[in-house]
Amino acid sequence: MLIIMQPTADKKQIENVIKYVENQGFTAHVSNGEVQTVIGCVGGKTIDKRNIELLEGVREVVKITSSYKLASRTFQHQDTIIEVRNAKFGGQYIGIMAGPCTVESEKQMEEAAEKLSATGIRTIRGGAFKPRTSPYSFQGMGEEGLKILRKVADKYDLAVISEVMEISQIPLMLKYVDILQVGARNMQNFNLLKELGEINKPVMIKRGMSATIEEWLMAAEYVLSGGNREVLLCERGIRTFETMTRNTLDISAIPVVKKISHLPVIVDPSHATGLRDKVAPMSLAAVAAGCDGLEIEVHPHPECAICDGAQSLTPADFDELYKNIKKIADVVGKVIQ
Ligand code: PEP
Ligand code: MN
Repeated sequence: MLIIMQPTADKKQIENVIKYVENQGFTAHVSNGEVQTVIGCVGGKTIDKRNIELLEGVREVVKITSSYKLASRTFQHQDTIIEVRNAKFGGQYIGIMAGPCTVESEKQMEEAAEKLSATGIRTIRGGAFKPRTSPYSFQGMGEEGLKILRKVADKYDLAVISEVMEISQIPLMLKYVDILQVGARNMQNFNLLKELGEINKPVMIKRGMSATIEEWLMAAEYVLSGGNREVLLCERGIRTFETMTRNTLDISAIPVVKKISHLPVIVDPSHATGLRDKVAPMSLAAVAAGCDGLEIEVHPHPECAICDGAQSLTPADFDELYKNIKKIADVVGKVIQ
């Protein structure tokens, strides 16, 4: 249920409504828009909405039948803008995250960070806990990898994004990482999502490989309903009958989600295509379609990468792509931050 306040409603009236719904067992999430305040109510028992509509300052009460409420544009009309260090995602900003699939050594990450920051990148990626399809594949460097990430990021003043695979890793991630990534394989790990709702750092949820957009938004709702309002969504390709690319990048998910949700939509063209030469065209298409950011795999020496070398760009290729992204961003009226 969403309670839309009158544009003229004052603080006292808003507080009064919050108190009323909390007494009915709801949790109230407040969105202060430019024109009006909207109070999203989660939980609670069935209630006659007319009782709320009679409270002072209330314009309208809307019962939401869809399973996501806080993620919807009805709850929050304006775009959510997420700021991490010098990077911004959402609204007029496009944030670009780049870096190797996995942290392999300090030398590798130092070289990556140096080249990426020379290009203008403000967020570095790198997995320390890797969700590998085979148990025999490299599983990541763990805390050692996180330490390396933080060290090189601090040296070049970059934000860090890295994947959290399970609840027990959260305290460690909070120590070293600025944005916690939930991988495609964990999009419906509801216990993990609930815990991430309790933290005060941004969470990026990658779309599950067989997830519908509605299921993806419900995953976001788990985090939002826990009180963490800093959620980014990442389209990384879905599984279709097509085998020419690793996955199929659902470009149409960008305008679809942007219409119904205020959350920033990031696109990962690397895992979507699995092929280095497809990363540039898909990045440009994603920016043209209105995405709020990109997550791109870049490795200083892709031919030696421990994982995902075939989809990783060289720093030189990435530098060229970055210049072209800027041109398309300009056309759609966005700035890269
Ligand atoms: C990744 O970004 O390193 C990753 C494993 O991606 P995904 O969860 O989208 O497969
Ligand atoms: Mn990868």
